[in-house]
Amino acid sequence: MAHLWVRHEGVWGAQRLGSAGIDVAGLLASRAAAAADGAAYPHSARLIRVDAAEAKSWAIIASPTSGLRVNGRTPPAGLCVLDDRDEIRGGAEKLFFSTETLAAVEPFPGSDRPVFCGRCRQSIEVGSPAVCCPGCGISYNESAELPCWTYSEKCTFCGQATALDAGFSWTPEEL
Ligand SMILES: [Zn+2]
Ligand SMILES: [Zn+2]
Repeated sequence: MAHLWVRHEGVWGAQRLGSAGIDVAGLLASRAAAAADGAAYPHSARLIRVDAAEAKSWAIIASPTSGLRVNGRTPPAGLCVLDDRDEIRGGAEKLFFSTETLAAVEPFPGSDRPVFCGRCRQSIEVGSPAVCCPGCGISYNESAELPCWTYSEKCTFCGQATALDAGFSWTPEEL
């Protein structure tokens, strides 16, 4: 799940992005109101999800005169498809976009065909606790009886760390 890094009182926090997208101008304006810095903020800018087959990407739509910048540049024609770790700036505030996803235990959603666990090779039952590897998308059981995801320190297929409390490997820093 992609997310935006937003700074609250000097501390960066990750805000998950849902399918509805997010009003970036409103978010920046609320940060600006907290900062009371008097800078000019974009009136209209929105982050939207673009679904193309399996690939999900995110784009920002902003009026070319809004003053919003992505990696220091005004989006051409007001549109910019975002890449991991892009900086979004408006006024004196900035946000960072990230595509990094944390591993989480969730009820297995199921699929058209049986899905086999990346560790034990048994089919994973719909609704049973499972982890979808953020690195490669392979699913694993993860219950008290079948702790297949956390059985090893790393995903068998892509080397993704399996610690469930590892947190994000990338966080914004002041540049
Ligand atoms: Zn398993
Ligand atoms: Zn993996």
